[in-house]
Amino acid sequence: MLRIAIQAKGRLSEDSLELLREAGIQVDDTKRKFLSQSRNFPAELLFLRDDDIPQAVALGVADIGIVGYNEVLEREQDVDVLEKLGFGPCRISLAIPKTEEYTGLEWFNGKRIATSYPNILGKFLKDNGIEAQIFVITGSVEIAPTVGMSDAIFDIVSSGGTLVSNGLKEVEKVVFSEAVVVGNRNLDEDKLKIWEQVKFRIRAVRESRNMKYLLMNVPNDKIEDAIRIIPAMRSPTILPLAQEGWSSMHSVVAEDVLWEKIELLKEIGAEGILVLSVEKMVL
Ligand code: ATP
Ligand code: MG
Repeated sequence: MLRIAIQAKGRLSEDSLELLREAGIQVDDTKRKFLSQSRNFPAELLFLRDDDIPQAVALGVADIGIVGYNEVLEREQDVDVLEKLGFGPCRISLAIPKTEEYTGLEWFNGKRIATSYPNILGKFLKDNGIEAQIFVITGSVEIAPTVGMSDAIFDIVSSGGTLVSNGLKEVEKVVFSEAVVVGNRNLDEDKLKIWEQVKFRIRAVRESRNMKYLLMNVPNDKIEDAIRIIPAMRSPTILPLAQEGWSSMHSVVAEDVLWEKIELLKEIGAEGILVLSVEKMVL
């Protein structure tokens, strides 16, 4: 049995549950409890505040956890980052009132900086030889300069909209973060085996998310050209059509280049192009 800690309520909880669900690890989240056992996989989910996940994993209360890398860095617990998950992207940045002229890191000397990430900030300032006062607050960090609590902030930024609406500008991007899987350092063989299974499934789900399945009819003398356009995993499947001189070609293609590829395929005479979503992909 592998115990997986995830955020109970917040920005990472839905994506975490969804990823596990797609990986075939399902719990009845309609009656979400503190601890829920999966119906179909040797795992149980422990729902926690994200702040507590690194420590829970370090202590072995949970075997692995899904949490923002920013929390992993801040909590300074003995855990290993086992896998990056791609969702929940953000950065932790230094921001100052937009009316200030920014002169480089020295600007922060003698200043007071409000943050919920004192450890990351303390290390960053020390590494750069900056002497500033760290003012710890746990919420609404972005309003601190406006109300006179601080000269600057060190906070999470994703789009930057919150900064702008509080009259701040981002001047240093210090840490980049995304959701990661952290693991306890002393997992036994059984748990490691289950984790390997989970990892394999998570990768298959993530691989498939960006991929589309492409079917089309191609004149036989253009098959070589079509293969050059979409090389596929190993090589595309080619099946003869009942109509002489034509074949059906099947392949997978990354979504971000899908339209570009379709235009190239049409140019060489491909017809009847169908695009389907891919449920899982095992490479
Ligand atoms: P909890 O109640 O579990 O302590 P929280 O309020 O501390 O939740 P959330 O706001 O739900 O945390 O954010 C969880 C994580 O989502 C962050 O630690 C970060 O990794 C990620 N994240 C991504 N974008 C943002 C953003 N714009 N603001 C805050 N967190 C973000
Ligand atoms: Mg939190």
